[in-house]
Amino acid sequence: MNIILLGPPGAGKGTQAKRLVEERGMVQLSTGDMLREARTSGTAMGNKVAAIMDAGELVTDAIVIGLIEEKLQGDIGGGVIFDGFPRTLAQADALSEMLTRNGQTLDAVVAMEVNDHELIERITGRFTCAKCGAGYHDAFKLPAAEGVCDVCGGTEFTRRKDDNEESLQTRLTEYYKKTSPLIGYYHAKGQLAWVKGLGSMDDVAGDIAKVLDA
Ligand code: ADP
Ligand code: ADP
Ligand code: ZN
Repeated sequence: MNIILLGPPGAGKGTQAKRLVEERGMVQLSTGDMLREARTSGTAMGNKVAAIMDAGELVTDAIVIGLIEEKLQGDIGGGVIFDGFPRTLAQADALSEMLTRNGQTLDAVVAMEVNDHELIERITGRFTCAKCGAGYHDAFKLPAAEGVCDVCGGTEFTRRKDDNEESLQTRLTEYYKKTSPLIGYYHAKGQLAWVKGLGSMDDVAGDIAKVLDA
């Protein structure tokens, strides 16, 4: 089954996607992760998008659609979790076309609802393990042993350059202006399911499981 996790920055898309990968053998396709990887490896595309990402604006539809198209040609046996894609109506149309072309379907769009106050708190406290990418939070999810990743034992952590209040304001505006129209788009197609993003990570995971198993 193929699903979209839809929600503003900090809603918990990445956190829940990683759980679905663990629990259901699905494949996480995060355009944010792909773009950050392109930056780290210094590709021409990575260099082109760096300033846009740091400012919190959306990169062009053509770039992210190209990234997803490439991935959909690989092995996606257990199904795909689209995390952070689509973010515009043009991307949603392109996704629908790519899936149809590959004989695949979109089975659910899970919209995660979290208020701005909580989003700001989540984003400004977010950090990840530099080695394995496991996600943490200064207040909500510290590693069990201070300074040591629960998952891989790594001791280096990173914070995203765009996880500051100024970029976040732009990212929220971009979300409400360009991405939130997707809620109506998928609702009209009968594919939208709301999940309260405010509960604990376990509660949210339980609510998502109910949607996927319905
Ligand atoms: P978040 O955790 O805030 O939801 P992501 O890691 O998904 O953020 O994305 C980080 C940045 O990468 C975005 O602010 C944007 O600049 C770019 N980006 C990621 N996905 C897309 C997309 N589908 N369309 C346009 N830009 C994207
Ligand atoms: P997104 O991918 O939607 O931008 P993340 O999954 O990276 O969001 O979550 C943002 C931050 O909030 C991370 O530091 C994560 O550990 C934390 N977080 C995620 N889900 C919850 C939750 N249900 N309760 C509290 N904190 C959470
Ligand atoms: Zn780790």
